[in-house]
Amino acid sequence: MIDVMNIILLGPPGAGKGTQAKFIVEKYKIIHISTGDMLREAVSSASELGLKVKSILEKGLLVSDDIMNELVKERLSRKDSEKGFILDGFPRTVNQAENLENILKGLNKKIDYVIFVNADEETVVRRISNRRVCPKCGRVYNLLTLKPENDSLCDNCGSEIIQRKDDKEQTVRDRYNVYKENTQPVIDYYENKKILFEVDGSRDLHEVNKKVMQILGN
Ligand code: AMP
Repeated sequence: MIDVMNIILLGPPGAGKGTQAKFIVEKYKIIHISTGDMLREAVSSASELGLKVKSILEKGLLVSDDIMNELVKERLSRKDSEKGFILDGFPRTVNQAENLENILKGLNKKIDYVIFVNADEETVVRRISNRRVCPKCGRVYNLLTLKPENDSLCDNCGSEIIQRKDDKEQTVRDRYNVYKENTQPVIDYYENKKILFEVDGSRDLHEVNKKVMQILGN
């Protein structure tokens, strides 16, 4: 294991990147940078950025590289990323991957591991279309595997749980296609650099976690 770990999690939406990120954060005490979460927060606070990206997120399309590169540059420049970070949901295009390399060069950092959590379209559709979230506290549920105890109310805060607009089946299929077209080349990019490790994200999340920990040397 190395001292400071900088990790990228790649893979289709619904492969379980966010879940694995949480395990890694807990174990290694590094920060979790989810660009999807950052954008959703911007939308819910109706900031200038949020207003710009709202309809793009709802349609499951990609926000422009310029906006994303700027957002990530600012985030990685903050002091708390010095002890290590996980990027979840970025880079999603080769342009973003190249930009990230420049940003990190400027900050005297590098990526140690790229973990590719793979899952096929049907697995992703089944998982995500059953996903529900609490709009108030952010807790995530699944109608097949992780139901709230009390019907449709959040176990944590009692609010009515909802389906994210971009989690509807057709939008999930659109997001998967966007992923195939834009992010597959990013996988090749890191494979060429010999820092890519693949895990099967269609497996049980604890099994996936075991594999991820093996990759990270623990
Ligand atoms: P996620 O939660 O990672 O699936 O992200 C949700 C949505 O945010 C995506 O469907 C995109 O619209 C947008 N998004 C997140 N990260 C990026 C990125 N790196 N580049 C472009 N759009 C992004």
